[in-house]
Amino acid sequence: MTSRFLTVQNIKIATLSLAFSLLSGGCKSIDNPVIAHRGAWKAQGLPENSIAALKEAIVLGCYGSEFDVHLTKDDIPVVNHDKDFMGIDIETSTYSELLAKQLSNGERIPTLKAYLEEGLKQKKTKLILEIKSAPSGKERTLKLTKMAVDMVHSLEGRSLVEYICFDFDAGQLVSKLDPKAEIAYLNGDRTPAEAKQAGYTGIDYNYMVYKKNPTWIKDALDLGLTVNVWTVNNEEDIQDLLRQNVDYITTNESELLFKVLNKNKR
Ligand code: MG
Repeated sequence: MTSRFLTVQNIKIATLSLAFSLLSGGCKSIDNPVIAHRGAWKAQGLPENSIAALKEAIVLGCYGSEFDVHLTKDDIPVVNHDKDFMGIDIETSTYSELLAKQLSNGERIPTLKAYLEEGLKQKKTKLILEIKSAPSGKERTLKLTKMAVDMVHSLEGRSLVEYICFDFDAGQLVSKLDPKAEIAYLNGDRTPAEAKQAGYTGIDYNYMVYKKNPTWIKDALDLGLTVNVWTVNNEEDIQDLLRQNVDYITTNESELLFKVLNKNKR
């Protein structure tokens, strides 16, 4: 594990991503659409949503690193995909109860605060914060939404954090709390025009949603919305989406996406 940043593959990827960063000023999405889904965990065998996977996405030079946030019983926002952390239900457990388990690399479940503090040590890779819908319902989802936005503001992270969510009202609350925030809707059940009308700055739909609604990518781009797609892990789909000029592609295969981008430039 200690040598993983020095592998030939990583040196190649880092060189590639540096080239993209130089071309793009570090953030122009058309040259660097890569969003690491739950961090860049797969190639290196890291736990999803771990601080290590966030660091790896930063090393690779991804445009963004996505992560999922839930609220514990004692109101601590934590980073994890599922509503349970290795079998311990998050919403009905205290943060200290969640410390009974560890990720496979020895990390504890990251708090949102610790995760943001790590990500804000740099200024290139955006932190794509997904507000998870609370199992108990809307009230707690909106509580988490406000807490997350407040935390980003208190850590002075507004320029580096973008938000995504499945709960339509949560995104509207983000827009109200921070009118300058980038907020994209995930659920795929609203037209681009409806998302824009509600205050969203982007749509971030499953690839199949765009296949079923073949005008939506162009419709969204014409409306000035950003377009992101989840979760795209093979070259054929990546090429299809690049041809349609999407802004971002959320993937478990960040390294592959960089390779495809490089191939297309030759
Ligand atoms: Mg997510």
